[in-house]
Order: sequence, then structure tokens, then C-alpha cells
Amino acid sequence: MNRKIENLEKFKEYIEQSKNIAIFTHLIPDGDAIGSAFGLAKLLKKLGKKVKVYLPSNLPEEYKYFNILDYLSCDNPLNNNFDLLIATDCGAYDRLGDYSKYFLSHSKTIVIDHHISFEPFAKLNLLSVESSSASEFVYDLICQCNYEIDKEIAELLYLGILRDSGGFMYSCTTPHTLRAVANLLEYKIDYENINRYFMMRSSYEKTMLLKVVLNNLKLFLNNEVVISHISMDELCMNKATIEDTGGIIAQILSIDKVQVAVLITETTKNVHKVSIRSKFEVDASQIALEFGGGGHKKASGFQITGKIDNIITKIIKSIEKRLV
Ligand code: 5GP
Ligand code: MN
Repeated sequence: MNRKIENLEKFKEYIEQSKNIAIFTHLIPDGDAIGSAFGLAKLLKKLGKKVKVYLPSNLPEEYKYFNILDYLSCDNPLNNNFDLLIATDCGAYDRLGDYSKYFLSHSKTIVIDHHISFEPFAKLNLLSVESSSASEFVYDLICQCNYEIDKEIAELLYLGILRDSGGFMYSCTTPHTLRAVANLLEYKIDYENINRYFMMRSSYEKTMLLKVVLNNLKLFLNNEVVISHISMDELCMNKATIEDTGGIIAQILSIDKVQVAVLITETTKNVHKVSIRSKFEVDASQIALEFGGGGHKKASGFQITGKIDNIITKIIKSIEKRLV
């Protein structure tokens, strides 16, 4: 059954009126950011549009698995005369990093998102909090516009759904999600390889980071909260990057009794990226919002400046109010 999409006609009209389109997604892109942005890029190309994708951070190596480099652009988008800009998987304008200002200043923009903390920032804001992922929402948009996907598009959208739903295990996985996945499998995508490559693989550097995270790990609030951190020095010593931290938090959340897991990674001196995961009732997005970030009920994050001990104290206070 189709999900009702508000402003579907407007979306179609924007696409059909445009010839030269730029797609953006969020800082430190994850599988859903990559899947939704490049999946949509390939679809637009099939529709005969000129299309480029701009990433506000480097493309993590693993995504070179997909045939997407031809779409990726590093030039100045201002020099391209784009008639439409689209942002995917972005709940707030500042998630576009250095492209935020340009995006806000353009006269024709669309954002396609699924975050509960969404703050509209485009001319046409498409939000579906029922979707497991921006990729699931992009899939719905494509289907309801009667556009045709192909195997390469299906693989990218599958990646996004797979990663944001935690391999179809998180509560954001719905019957609708699984029906979308079933349809994507009809395109004979290589899901076994994608599952193995994106869900069951770790680099040596990432495995060594896990060692750091376990070393620095502490339990708080009756063992219901686990917090760990990685300093810039520890990243450097292990020849790891911020991208290598993805997925580690799920391992510490798995500890028995733990309701909330927090992983704090120092990105530049005293500037930290904080990831929050919640297993049960605590709303992780509310904690992140308190610190100027956002996300979902079960996964959220924010950036913060300060000394690690002070940050941990503040985060514990915020979680304590919300523990049930
Ligand atoms: P992660 O911990 O994997 O980086 O992020 C988990 C979720 O929180 C993602 O859905 C992401 O969009 C959101 N998130 C992470 N960092 C930020 C941030 O600084 N601002 C906002 N608004 N959302 C964030
Ligand atoms: Mn997402």
C-alpha cells in the first residue's frame, strides 16, 4: 500500500522543471546519506538530467564499492548554474557543512528527510518520520512518481535502508520497509555481498579503535549508561579516522542492563562529535537537542567543544533526567 506523501505533486513538478541538479547530503556521510544521495542522482540521470553530488566531508573509502565516483563533484557549485538543489538525509541546514550557506541562498531547493528533530530549511521540505531511512523515503518518492529504478539504484537504496535499520533489526523497520526491500531484491541486487561488506566487515584500524573504546569505557547510573571516548591522539596513534568509529557504539550498547550508550570522539583539539544510542524508552534525540544536535529516538548526535570530563558530567545529567 502506498504511503501518503504530502507535496508529491510539487516534488514531481520541481524535478520535471529542472535540467541541471545538484544533490547534497550530511557531514560525515553514513550509508543512508550515500544511498539516498547517489540513488537519487542515478535516477535523475536516467530521467535525462545533468546531475552532480556534493559531499561536505570526504567520501569514506568503503562506498567506492558502488559505481558512484562519476557523480561526485569537488568543484565550486556556484559556478554550475544549477536550477535545483536537493539535500537528502539532512535534519538541519548546518548538517550541510560548508554548503549550508549556498543551499539556503538558492531559490529552488528540496530537502528529503526522515529525522524526528527535522527543522525545515528548503523551499520544499519533504519529511517522513515513518521511514526507516531517507533511502526508504526516496524509494517511495520514486515509485509514487512512477519513475523507473534499475539494479544500481536499487543497490544504493538497499544500502541506505540496511544501514539505518541496523540490518532490519531496529524498531524503525516496519512492514512497509520490508516490502520496499522485497521490491528492491526483485532487481537481482547482490544483497549478500552488500550485507557482508557493509555489516560484517571491519578494518584493522577500526578493530584497534574498539580496543581504545573498551579501555576508556565506564558505566554510570546503576550501570544503565555506558560512556566511552576517543581522543585525537588515540585516533592518530591507531592511524584511524572519524569514519572508522561508525558502528562501534552498537557494541557497547549491547552490554546487559545498559539503556543508553554514548561515544565521544575528539575531531579537533577540544571539539568532539558525540554519538548517542538508546535501547529502550529514553529518547536519544531529546538529549542531543539539549546540546544543539538532533537525530532519532534511538540514535542521535551533536558536536560540542570543551574538556572531556566536563562534557561527560553534562551528558550524564541530561540522561539522568530521562532514565525510566
Ligand atoms: P551518528 O552517531 O551515527 O553520527 O548519528 C546518529 C544520528 O544522529 C543520525 O541520524 C544523525 O543524523 C544524527 N546526528 C548526529 N550528529 C548530529 C548533529 O551534530 N546534528 C544533528 N542535527 N543531528 C546529528
Ligand atoms: Mn538516515
